[in-house]
Amino acid sequence: MKLSYKAYAKVNLGLDVLRKREDGYHDVKMIMQTVNLYDVIEIEASDDNLISIVTENDSIPVNEDNLIYKACKLLMDEFNINRGVRITLIKNIPVAAGMAGGSTDAAYTLIGINELFKLGLSKDELMKRGVKIGADVPYCIMGGTALSEGIGEILSPVSGMPNCNILIAKPPIDVSTKFVYENLHANELKRHPDIDGLKSYIEASDIYSIANKMENVLETVTVKEYPIIEEIKTYMKQNGALNSIMSGSGPTVFGLFDNYEIAKKAYDGLLARNITTQVYLTDLVL
Ligand code: ATP
Repeated sequence: MKLSYKAYAKVNLGLDVLRKREDGYHDVKMIMQTVNLYDVIEIEASDDNLISIVTENDSIPVNEDNLIYKACKLLMDEFNINRGVRITLIKNIPVAAGMAGGSTDAAYTLIGINELFKLGLSKDELMKRGVKIGADVPYCIMGGTALSEGIGEILSPVSGMPNCNILIAKPPIDVSTKFVYENLHANELKRHPDIDGLKSYIEASDIYSIANKMENVLETVTVKEYPIIEEIKTYMKQNGALNSIMSGSGPTVFGLFDNYEIAKKAYDGLLARNITTQVYLTDLVL
């Protein structure tokens, strides 16, 4: 039996960092949103006792550093599964981009192993295990629109988000999440995004006010360092986006549109400008 999953990416409609904790982690307050851009993960059992990962993308590890491997191992050790698994990954989500690509692969691997070996774990039980792999993994299992607090593992679903077109662009630069958090100085921030306000507008399904409230506090670090992020935001806003911000710790930028024709024109224009090859026009998964 071969199981196949779409492992969806996310963007942050809002991202705030409340404080740096004594243990070095940061308390965050974010609105997460699943987008219709996904990796494909195929999972099947094998008789060789190995966890093998096959992918054509040569920028990601296929050994125990891959989050897919960690997810397999976690469940297979706990449930003493004496078989192997073979996982094929078709990578569409930009890597190291702030879109939780690795976390969503881990999330759907947990879901897949649970189904393949009939472990009978509920969604909640999978989410509890997922946080051991990464703070965003529980959210990726849950999906949709959610408020995320703590280090990202305290999740509450938010309803009301209207669907819209979303233009996503990853500039050709690598941004280290560690660098961004180290340079944020979270305890001295003067200004914080209004995540509660954003949440209320989502609940009111008011796309224009949602767009107005979108803000990512991590831009205070990345935009200074990488002006191309601001350049893409400005391009999107000047070409019909209701608003445009960076997702996660970047460098991916996204813009929301209430009109497909306008979004398509902005997409074509962005491709023609040749500042990034990774551009996607899609919609939300609610
Ligand atoms: P986040 O939004 O959670 O910060 P990200 O988009 O910044 O995630 P990922 O795409 O998850 O980052 O990848 C970060 C690094 O993790 C990569 O450089 C890669 O070496 C490693 N990695 C491990 N497993 C995977 C995977 N399945 N897919 C992509 N990267 C992976």
